[in-house]
Amino acid sequence: MATILDGKKLRDKIFESLKAKLDKMPQKPTLAVILVGENPASQIYVRNKKKTAEKLGINSLSIEYPSDVSEEELLNKIKELNSNEKVTAILVQLPLPAHINKNKIIDAILPQKDVDGLTPYNLGKLFSGEEPYVYPCTPKGILLLLDEYNIELEGKNIVVVGRSNLVGKPVAQMLLKRNATVTMCHSHTKNLPEITKTADIIVSAVGKKVIGEKMLKSNCVVIDVGIFRDENGKISGDVDFESVSKTAAYISPVPGGVGPMTIASLMLNTVELAGK
Ligand code: NAP
Repeated sequence: MATILDGKKLRDKIFESLKAKLDKMPQKPTLAVILVGENPASQIYVRNKKKTAEKLGINSLSIEYPSDVSEEELLNKIKELNSNEKVTAILVQLPLPAHINKNKIIDAILPQKDVDGLTPYNLGKLFSGEEPYVYPCTPKGILLLLDEYNIELEGKNIVVVGRSNLVGKPVAQMLLKRNATVTMCHSHTKNLPEITKTADIIVSAVGKKVIGEKMLKSNCVVIDVGIFRDENGKISGDVDFESVSKTAAYISPVPGGVGPMTIASLMLNTVELAGK
């Protein structure tokens, strides 16, 4: 049976050390979160982020707009937050409604306050092998989880499934930086199982059930980033946990794996930015 990569346990450990650090900070960080529309999943994520920040001693500011807010109004709000000295971190909850250009909104955030690490400046730094102000939260959480279990990355064959700016592309860059041999797959990849069978480590960030036991070599490490509701309304990941956990060496569960690590990284990034 695979060892479970326990994201909740590591998250709690990170929160303990963050709390101690925050207690000593004379000026607490302020995280501003912008939410547009009434997407129920986004509302839950934002509520959790706010609650977690406050529990740790981080100030939080939530700004909510109806789904028909104009792009201009959002851009003006970001400008205001950029110049507000009290606000040390800004997050725009994704997805945004279709009439809003997501890239334009993200580009408007000051890189020094870009807590998600998704502005072109921070992604550009990451892709050129330099240090961004902060690393994107989910990729950062994945690497923290792998490191916690002492999983070697150097020289390993790592297959990343999914190529979003949020997860797939930045995690691939971070793994390259750690000297892994990285292969990227996506919806146009031919013979996905042939490629995944070469992997020592798989990171799947798709949002559909795409990884089954027959696609993997034994004793590999499986990181499941996907989170969605299956046809029965149950929270599910990309990986068939039942069968894969019998042959893999390590597996991250959904829920309880990458999800808690994303929020831990968000809080780490908020504290890091306040110190810069
Ligand atoms: P996304 O923007 O939804 O894109 C999905 C990616 O999967 C795309 O690159 C797509 O390829 C690829 N894909 C789709 N069908 C495929 C298939 N059959 N085989 C191989 N690749 C396929 O990605 P995302 O925003 O990174 O989200 C992915 C999943 O992770 C979602 O379930 C999301 O909810 C979850 N997520 C979880 C966390 C967390 O904290 N746990 C954080 C972020 C995201 P193309 O590029 O060719 O379209």
